[in-house]
Amino acid sequence: MTERRCAGCWQVKDRKELIKITNAGAKPVINPDSTTFGRSVYLCYNKSCIESVFKKKKLEKFLKTSVSDELKGQLLDELRDSQNK
Ligand SMILES: [Zn+2]
Repeated sequence: MTERRCAGCWQVKDRKELIKITNAGAKPVINPDSTTFGRSVYLCYNKSCIESVFKKKKLEKFLKTSVSDELKGQLLDELRDSQNK
């Protein structure tokens, strides 16, 4: 089991239970395929974790890039999609 830590609540969870965000160069990518490498952070499929990292600007810090509100929208979409599965 591959364990990763959520940047929002700091809990350790299975990789499959987390959203991965990778700074692939130009801009952050959500749940990239296995050919995309870069500095990455993980987040729970949990709105409060998403809100928390944006409020505290943690993604900028971890990914070392600027993070737009658009990304937040994409994360919330991802969250919604996962709940519809
Ligand atoms: Zn979390």
